[in-house]
Amino acid sequence: MPETTFRRLAEVFSLLEKTSSSLAMIDILSEFFKKISPKEAKISAYLISGEISPSYANLELGLAKKLVAKAIGKATNKTQTEVEKLLHKKGDLGIVVEDLLETQKGRKYSIEEVFEELKKIAKLSGEGSQEEKINLLANLIKNVSPLEAKYIVRLVLGILRLGVGEMTFLYSISKALTGTKEKKKILEYAFNVLSDLGEVTFQALEKGIENLKNAKPVAGIPIRMMLAQRIKDLKEIKEHINGKISVEYKYDGERIQAHVKKDKEIILFSRNHENITSQFPDVIGGIKGTFKGKETIIEGEVVALDLKTEKLLDFQTLMTRRRKYNVKEYIKKVPIRYFLFDILYLDGKPLLQENLLKRKKFLEEAFVENELVKFAKYIISESEEETEEFFLEAIKNGAEGIMIKDANSIYQAGIRGWNWIKYKKDYHQEITDTFDLVVIGANYGSGKRAGTFGSLLVAAFDQNKNKFYSFTKVGAGFTDDDLKNLPKILNPFKIPQKYKMVETGMEADVWFEPKIVMEVAGADITISPVHTVAKDKIKKGGLALRFPRFIRWREDKKSEDATTVEEIYQMYKK
Ligand code: ATP
Repeated sequence: MPETTFRRLAEVFSLLEKTSSSLAMIDILSEFFKKISPKEAKISAYLISGEISPSYANLELGLAKKLVAKAIGKATNKTQTEVEKLLHKKGDLGIVVEDLLETQKGRKYSIEEVFEELKKIAKLSGEGSQEEKINLLANLIKNVSPLEAKYIVRLVLGILRLGVGEMTFLYSISKALTGTKEKKKILEYAFNVLSDLGEVTFQALEKGIENLKNAKPVAGIPIRMMLAQRIKDLKEIKEHINGKISVEYKYDGERIQAHVKKDKEIILFSRNHENITSQFPDVIGGIKGTFKGKETIIEGEVVALDLKTEKLLDFQTLMTRRRKYNVKEYIKKVPIRYFLFDILYLDGKPLLQENLLKRKKFLEEAFVENELVKFAKYIISESEEETEEFFLEAIKNGAEGIMIKDANSIYQAGIRGWNWIKYKKDYHQEITDTFDLVVIGANYGSGKRAGTFGSLLVAAFDQNKNKFYSFTKVGAGFTDDDLKNLPKILNPFKIPQKYKMVETGMEADVWFEPKIVMEVAGADITISPVHTVAKDKIKKGGLALRFPRFIRWREDKKSEDATTVEEIYQMYKK
């Protein structure tokens, strides 16, 4: 197979950029993936997502605009100020560089060559590295065509934004290799186990899709986490689970997937697969002192607690532990416990296909409780009364509610299904449901809110359609501090127009790339002419949340983890 040029990939980017239809994206991508080598496909998978590595590997681009403007200047004989003036006019350094290069022919770089250069740029650190980054980038710009330069610049800035969702991507690989989208399920399974679109693409092309049915967990590579559905009344459990149930405390902390590797290294991953090892040295110490095996992948919730009273504290308190600096000081200030509830892999044995009761047994045999590491409290409940009683006890002891799990179910990586159900205090008291929604736009504030935003337009996610649908506008529930910080949090994601994967009938003063997730409470769900959640099902309009109120930021969630359109539709029907 001849080498594929980066120019070819840039043409694919250009086609993708012009469409917001997932079907069109699948066609464009499947044509492309038919004709390239497994290695090139792996690299392309990362680049199409605007990355240069799987998200858990923490190797990121995202250069500052200033640096990139300097590099463009250097490559095109302009000053940085001249380039910045053009940026002001055009709003996008990608377009600026494309215009400046005019008809530059460039030499033909292969995909691999450009990728290696980008990696070099990302890896440079320390003294003098900025200058070197600028030189490498300028050299690249000087030697490619205008279209390639446009996308290289957007890649290094971390603003490629093609809008290709993970599922859209997997459909396209299925189509490229088999002519139909039907094998996406196998690819999705492998992706849930390996969390790496590049690796899954590589293996699919190299060994065939069918082989991915046997994808196995690897210590050190995060598994996409199994998620829960919710109920409002314990009576609903019977509709979803037939046999035995395990009822567990739902701790109000942060989920951590801990990996112990053969070489004894321990890595902690957040729900988003962020490597958070350095933030929890106490958890590392705790695991070291209690694990009896060689290699494992476990899951649990880390929770803050008051050492004097042994009372569990809330999520907000724990979040103060999410820091790069003064970690040692905060270990003392905010002590924690790590409550284990699952094990997914142990000493060479994948446990995903074992049922929950068996997994609990493996967990309890492989670990002994110590000061820091405990088992999550659970019972095998025989009746609704027993479940209710356990729920009340859980709440009294500082838990957020309970998790109800089908005791016979396997661990379904990356799936939000009915084998795990959450039941929270909020639902019990019938205050409201809360939603995790993505900020897609905002209106400027006035009066007391001058200089910040007055309200935020937020959306739910539809995984199949790969689109964000507006659900409500949130202006209440913010403290003065929250309000003051809004521009700082949101402005980095500002874009000139409504993001192409966003559907809404609302107008906004500012639009954002859908990246930031917040938890929102509300009174009830109604039909609205301007919001778009489940619009295709409701017909008269879309669903909207009335009297929304900001609860908290969900830094632990990506926009794809937001409450889904389907979840909201089910709640509305109830
Ligand atoms: P939430 O917003 O309610 O935290 P979520 O969307 O993060 O939910 P869900 O799968 O809906 O995730 O709810 C389960 C979450 O509850 C887990 O991700 C985990 O962080 C937390 N949790 C606390 N205790 C348990 C437990 N015993 N078993 C499973 N998850 C638990």
